[in-house]
Amino acid sequence: MKKLEDYIVSIPDFPEEGIIFRDVTTVIQDPEGLKLAIDTMSGFLDGVDFDVVVGPEARGFIFGMPIAYKLGKGFVVIRKKGKLPRKTISQEYDLEYGKAEVEIHADAIKPGQKVVIVDDLLATGGTMEANIRLVERLGGEVVKVVFLIELAGLCGRKRLADYSVESAVIYE
Ligand code: IMP
Repeated sequence: MKKLEDYIVSIPDFPEEGIIFRDVTTVIQDPEGLKLAIDTMSGFLDGVDFDVVVGPEARGFIFGMPIAYKLGKGFVVIRKKGKLPRKTISQEYDLEYGKAEVEIHADAIKPGQKVVIVDDLLATGGTMEANIRLVERLGGEVVKVVFLIELAGLCGRKRLADYSVESAVIYE
């Protein structure tokens, strides 16, 4: 039987020389790969008491939504700046070159709600740190963070040391 990592295609020198890009589109385009990904990621939430799943645009939507649906929870979106129509709060964070800004609807998380955040890949952890800040600024409690892939060499787990982090596939 194929393992989850067998569905991930690694592309050398994308988007620039020296980077190995881990492509998750090959996981989700295969029905067995998609099922394995969602079952493995939602399995990390067995016995976890939580209220809602949060996923950042765009690949957090792909993996977060089916997990929320499967576990009978709602799904809250984090989007790039300027996309959400109602009152938002926003969070800026550093990219390798420059800055990015993400937003969440101000009423999307109620104070005291227990939140699981889902994304495709953990690298340095900067993106997830910004997601966590948004949830916490609304009074949510981040009880778990779930990724499909973790690039352990970039030490994102260290950056998220105060949180419970789960990854389905870890590359050293
Ligand atoms: P971080 O903020 O450094 O942890 O970067 C994580 C973000 O970059 C995630 O939202 C990913 O979607 C994206 N990312 C970084 N490297 C890769 C990769 O190899 N494949 C797919 N996405 C990546």
